[in-house]
Amino acid sequence: MQTEKVDVLVIGAGPAGTVAASIINKAGYSVKIVEKLKFPRFVIGESLLPRCMDALTEAGFIDAISERGFQKKSGAKFVKNGRICDFTFENQHTPGWTWTWQVPRADFDFTLAQTVEKMGVPVEYETTVTGIVFNGTDSVTTVEDIHGHKKQIEARFIVDGSGYGRVIPKLFNLEKQSVLQPRKALFAHTNDIRRSMADEPNRITAVVHEKGVWIWIIPFSTGVTSVGFVGDHTFHDRFKGTPEEQYRAMLDSEPYTKERFKDVEFLFEPRKLEAWSATTDKFYGEGFVLTGNVTEFLDPIFSSGVTLATVSAQTAAKLVIKKLKGEAVDWEKEYMEPTLQGVNVFRSYVMAWYEGTLDTIFFSKNPDPEIKRQICSVLAGYVWDQSNPYVKNHDEAPKRLARLIEVTEKLNPTA
Ligand code: FAD
Repeated sequence: MQTEKVDVLVIGAGPAGTVAASIINKAGYSVKIVEKLKFPRFVIGESLLPRCMDALTEAGFIDAISERGFQKKSGAKFVKNGRICDFTFENQHTPGWTWTWQVPRADFDFTLAQTVEKMGVPVEYETTVTGIVFNGTDSVTTVEDIHGHKKQIEARFIVDGSGYGRVIPKLFNLEKQSVLQPRKALFAHTNDIRRSMADEPNRITAVVHEKGVWIWIIPFSTGVTSVGFVGDHTFHDRFKGTPEEQYRAMLDSEPYTKERFKDVEFLFEPRKLEAWSATTDKFYGEGFVLTGNVTEFLDPIFSSGVTLATVSAQTAAKLVIKKLKGEAVDWEKEYMEPTLQGVNVFRSYVMAWYEGTLDTIFFSKNPDPEIKRQICSVLAGYVWDQSNPYVKNHDEAPKRLARLIEVTEKLNPTA
C-alpha cells in the first residue's frame, strides 16, 4: 500500500479542519487535509457569531471570505407573539467584533478549503479515514478514495475536525451521550420574494413558535433565506405527508412565517436532521486533538457551532505547534478547560432557552440596558470573558434575573 508522511494530518475540511490546518501550516509544518466528500457540499450552520471572526482572521481567511459578498450580520432578533427583542452586536459588553456573516455553508466552506489549498495545504476530497493506529504520538491512518484505493498516511499528530463524522470518538469508543434532550429540525432554502416588505436581511430572526419550538430565519445576500423549524418529536409528529407538505404546514401554522413564505419556491426538498447533540469525555489523547463538532455540538438556537469549531481549532493548532516544537503541553489545562468553558456557557443558555427562562428576559417590559449588553456579548460568542457576569455565572445569573422580572412584573402589571 502507498504510504505518505506529513507532520499533521487533519480530518475534515469544514471550518474546524481548515482553520487548524492553516495555522499549523503557517508555522512551517507539513499539513494535509483528507475530506470524505466532494466540495462544494451542503452542510447546515449558516449563521455565524462575531467571535469566530478572530479565529478566521488568525487563519488568514477574512479577505477571501469578504470577496464572496456574503450577507453581513450585525445582530439577532427574537420574536414571540408579535413582541420583538432585538440584539445589536454594537451594543455589547465585551470589546470585539460587532458583525459577522450569514452564509450558505456550501460556498463558505469551499472558500475556506480553496484558500487553505492556495496557502499550500493539500486537500484530498472524496477520501475517507477508515482506520488509525497510534504508536505513542505517531500514527498511521488508512484512507480510502471513492474508487476503493487505499493508502496510509503517517503523521506526527492528528487534528480530528470531522464534524458529525466523529471519526476518532467512533474508532476508539469515546462517544458519550449529551445531557440535552434530542430534537429535530426540518428546514429548506426559500426564494424569499417578500423579504423587502418583511424583515431586514442584516440579522437573523428566531421566532418562538410554541413552548420548546422555534424557527430560524437566516437571509443570504442572494435573496435566498434559510428557514428551519426546531422542536422535539411530539411537535414534528403532528405534521403528516411528504417533507414539503409537512414544511408548508409548519410555515402556515406560524403567523410570522405564513405571510412571508406563503407559496414560495424551495431550492431543495425540505430536509430533516435529528438527535445532533453528542460529546466525548476528553477532547484530546496521545497524538490527537478533537476540534469543532467532534468535541461537542449542542443545539442550533444560539448559532454557536461554527464559532466553537473555529475557536477550538485555533486553540488546538497553537498547542499542536508547541508540541511539534518539543515543548510541554498541558492538554487538560490549555485545551480541555477553555474549550469546555465555551461549551458550558452555551449549554447553560441552550437549557435556559428551552426552559423558558430566556423568554422571560428577552420579552420583559423594561429590560435593563447594561444587562442586555452583557447578554448580547454571550450571543456574539464572547463566552470566555470573565468580566461579564452573564458569562461568569452562566448557570445562575439568567435564572435569578428571570425570577426578578417575574416578581416585578407581577407587582407592577401595568408598568
Ligand atoms: P463540519 O462542518 O461538519 O465539517 C466536517 C467535515 O468532515 C465534513 O466536510 C465531513 O464530510 C468530513 N468528514 C466526516 N467524516 C470523515 C471521514 N471519515 N474522513 C474524512 N472526512 C470526514 N452552527 C452555527 O454556527 N450556526 C448555525 O446557524 C447553525 N445551525 C445549525 C442547525 C442545525 C439543525 C444543526 C444540526 C447544526 C447547526 N449548526 C450551526 C452547527 C454546525 O452545523 C456545526 O457546528 C459546524 O458545521 C461544525 O463545523 P466542523 O468544522 O466541526 O464540522
